[in-house]
Amino acid sequence: MDPLKPLVVVSKCLTFDHCRYNGHMISDPFIEKMKPFVDFVPVCPEMAIHLGVPRNPIRLIFENEQFQLVQPATGKTLTTEMKTFLERWLTRLDGVDGFLLKSRSPSCGIKDVKVYPSMESKSALKKAKGYFGMQIDQFYPYLIMEDEGRLSNAHIREHFLARLYLQAGFRRLKKNFSVAHLIDFHTRNKYLFMAYHQSGLKKMGVLVANAKRLNEKQVLEDYQELIQTMFSRLPRTGSMINALLHCFGYVSDKLNTDERSYFLDLIQQYKEKHVPLSVLLSLMKSWIVRFKEPYLAQQTLFSPYPMQLLDLSDSGKNE
Ligand code: SF4
Repeated sequence: MDPLKPLVVVSKCLTFDHCRYNGHMISDPFIEKMKPFVDFVPVCPEMAIHLGVPRNPIRLIFENEQFQLVQPATGKTLTTEMKTFLERWLTRLDGVDGFLLKSRSPSCGIKDVKVYPSMESKSALKKAKGYFGMQIDQFYPYLIMEDEGRLSNAHIREHFLARLYLQAGFRRLKKNFSVAHLIDFHTRNKYLFMAYHQSGLKKMGVLVANAKRLNEKQVLEDYQELIQTMFSRLPRTGSMINALLHCFGYVSDKLNTDERSYFLDLIQQYKEKHVPLSVLLSLMKSWIVRFKEPYLAQQTLFSPYPMQLLDLSDSGKNE
């Protein structure tokens, strides 16, 4: 089988084109690193509605209980043009797994976009999603959307990649659905699901167990909805420890007392945020290899995305 390659919509100014209002492009080492492993679909909504480069900046305003995109220097309201373009573009999009957008842009920002009370106002009223982000929410509420700034945080980056690859795997399953393939997908992701959401895992288990008696469309919709709920937040430390201890159960009787207490000590240190998760995962992986544990070897918890994308840098911001 070909390696999984998630399909990700990306703001075009993030390493793909000099399309910012001032003619600049944003360089981003992590996006460069992702390029061989991800199929990117670059888009610049402002260029797509023919605003040109360079252009006068636009802003998001909230007037009469509605968000509007405006260009103060020209006095133009661009909401209808942008909405028409985005609705058409998002409807035609096929098989996408997630979105990676430019932070704080009134079009592309996913949060923290300044919203002004009017075209002329000097100070912002509040912060919100950009206009593109709002439309994505309508069309693809079950997919992950991040901005390049937040990916400097290691936890957010790991979560983003794990969810992208999980979604790409699920998209592949949908293309070639059979109950056997669903069971295989569910089995391989079992401990990743447990690390994210234990009660969600139980619901998935019930759905998979009954899949033969249910309609395929309904099974896939319900399973997708559970993925969305379970992966709507970063995994909690307690759930991750629970999943790791379950996996530890497969190998613990083959370890000596010192190895067992070393692992449990590392768990405590992870709980107290003194060691990163990657230390525990690496140790578990070494035991999986040593004891040839085939059930654990297939678990995506230990390699949710290609290891070339593993990046230990962490800004510690934005979580
Ligand atoms: S933030 Fe979005 S709209 Fe602005 S230049 Fe980048 S891609 Fe274009």
